[in-house]
Amino acid sequence: MDISRVIKPWKLNSQRDLVFVNAIIVDPAEGKLIQNATVRTSEGKVIQIVADGSTTITDDLPEENVINLTGKYLSPGLIDCHVHITVVPGEADLRSYKDMTEQISLLRQPYVLKSMLDRGFTSIRDCGGASLAIKEAVEEGVIPGPRLFIAGHALSQTGGHGDLRGSHDIKLCCGGSISGISRIVDSPAECYKYAREELRQGADFIKIMGGGGIASPTDRIEHVQFSDEEIRAIVTVARNAGTYVTSHSYTPRAIQQAIKLGVRGIEHGNLIDLETAKMMAEMDVFLTPTLITHVMSKQMNFLSADSAAKNKEVLERGLQAIKMAVDAGVTVCFGTDLLGPMHFAQSKEFSVRNSVLTPSQILCSATVNAARLLMQEHRLGQIREGFVADLLILKGNPLEDITILDQVEEHVLAVIKDGRVVASRWEKVKLDI
Ligand SMILES: [Zn+2]
Repeated sequence: MDISRVIKPWKLNSQRDLVFVNAIIVDPAEGKLIQNATVRTSEGKVIQIVADGSTTITDDLPEENVINLTGKYLSPGLIDCHVHITVVPGEADLRSYKDMTEQISLLRQPYVLKSMLDRGFTSIRDCGGASLAIKEAVEEGVIPGPRLFIAGHALSQTGGHGDLRGSHDIKLCCGGSISGISRIVDSPAECYKYAREELRQGADFIKIMGGGGIASPTDRIEHVQFSDEEIRAIVTVARNAGTYVTSHSYTPRAIQQAIKLGVRGIEHGNLIDLETAKMMAEMDVFLTPTLITHVMSKQMNFLSADSAAKNKEVLERGLQAIKMAVDAGVTVCFGTDLLGPMHFAQSKEFSVRNSVLTPSQILCSATVNAARLLMQEHRLGQIREGFVADLLILKGNPLEDITILDQVEEHVLAVIKDGRVVASRWEKVKLDI
């Protein structure tokens, strides 16, 4: 008897070897295709890629493990660098989420995770809210979902983007208290302490609210949040632990403050100017725009009237911003930031970006660039020998038309994570989970 399987009966079976023959490999790093390739996966890794199509290495395997991909494309799994899995579907507008308990959220998170996996996202970066418990549940196989990289709670100042209290709420909150997906901290001392707390509780990186936001009731977009001393404290804690800080910042002023103090990533960045974009490129700072959340918030009337007015401004500027950043040489990543009932629109970010960027630039943002942001470029984001076997079987060529990734039912034929088939819309590919 395997006692580990008795203790953890949900433990996943070890991966069967898979061989994909006659594959057209999509290489986002080079922006090209590799024709007529054979790809073998074993124990969750890509172990062999033969490009000339002449080698047969399938003799030892049952027929169903050898998948003939003639005419189909094999792409690296997608990475969404800005999600909030704890703000689950179930309510129509943001206001209703104030009353949602952690238990309700937690019970619904498996739905959110499974849907992301079905859309082809094999890794996600949660920028505030997700717990170590849910990350471990996915890792152990209790529930299916993308690989998680989490911020724990985002850090916000009093009255900042993470402070959910309205202006008429006179209850004071104490240092470190939790407010939705955030934690309220003021002073360098609290910044040191709670950045360390988040890391202790399993955060992979630290997220700060470095400027005003759309959904927050008492700040303005143009506000700069946190002092230099506070940000410096948080950056020191992250660096000492071998990780990094990313900042919610829309304006040049907030972005410049953050990156001069050592922040490595900027979230949203919709109001960026050329000077700031060039500075980011020079300092190798990542930008993760999240345009679809602005589009959907408007379409679904998700925000209060005040927030909707802020949303309108940043939506209009967001597309220009992303183009300006890419042209300036900034490493841009794929993000969505969808909340509540809007998660379903995750893949629409591909179509939104398609109006200003090339398919290759967009695919890079969701694979190689994202892997580098996650500090996982040695194992994620590409189909290479020794890399994790996170793969998509696609009907069309994403380097020609990136919007196929937004037509999931039609084009995403199968999703493989860690060498296991976790979603299949094609009878030739048998599910493992
Ligand atoms: Zn966010």
